[in-house]
Amino acid sequence: KRVKDDLEVLQAATDALDPKNPDIKKFTDLPLCEPTSAGLRDSHFEVLTDVQRAAIPLALKGNDILGAAKTGSGKTLAFLIPVLEKLYCAQWTEYDGLGALIISPTRELAVQIFEVLRKIGRKHQFSAGLVIGGKSLKEEAERLGRMNILVCTPGRMLQHLDQTAGFDVDNLQVLVLDEADRIMDMGFQSAVDALVEHLPKTRQTMLFSATQSKRVSDLARLSLKDPEYVSVHEAA
Ligand code: ADP
Ligand code: MG
Repeated sequence: KRVKDDLEVLQAATDALDPKNPDIKKFTDLPLCEPTSAGLRDSHFEVLTDVQRAAIPLALKGNDILGAAKTGSGKTLAFLIPVLEKLYCAQWTEYDGLGALIISPTRELAVQIFEVLRKIGRKHQFSAGLVIGGKSLKEEAERLGRMNILVCTPGRMLQHLDQTAGFDVDNLQVLVLDEADRIMDMGFQSAVDALVEHLPKTRQTMLFSATQSKRVSDLARLSLKDPEYVSVHEAA
């Protein structure tokens, strides 16, 4: 009952949130659940970066996001915080299966995202895993069914969706495409297209990249629904 009341308060605060409010400067200015707040506090994250200030409120309100901001601007938290909040608000449990899928172009970047997730998500109960190859498909497959959040590379994930029996993604709430420009540069277009085909149409999608290009907007058109454009440039 108390949890339900807390969730209603959180939901009301999120509904009331003005995404353009210039007074949003610190993570404590956002309507975030206690586990996320504690994770950020313990990791010493306090002030939002520009891309986080532009993207997180819109994402918390459920919008699809098409975000462009240069490397080092803090895009990882811009999508990880909304992912955690979405699953928390849905009271996601181990029985609900895969709730969020984060696609990254390389193993190294996937590992980095996973490390940040482990840090800021440590007060949450969600299970999270990496799907980046390097182990046998069978070994990876055995853990997949128990995961709430997966960080993956496109080719490996597609392999599982095509070949791993009983791996169910029908409940998926959030898809993140990180470093979309590099995903396209590395030739993963058709793998990502096929991947997205496997996913439920009703979901929230966030696409981030360091640069804008024709290929990124092609991917965006395919995967996003009425996205909010978030583009952060350096001050002139
Ligand atoms: P990008 O994905 O845009 O290249 P990252 O998400 O990797 O950027 O973040 C770059 C660096 O900035 C990381 O070291 C991260 O810990 C740090 N960082 C991100 N957000 C914040 C913040 N709000 N406050 C302080 N440091 C931050
Ligand atoms: Mg990044």
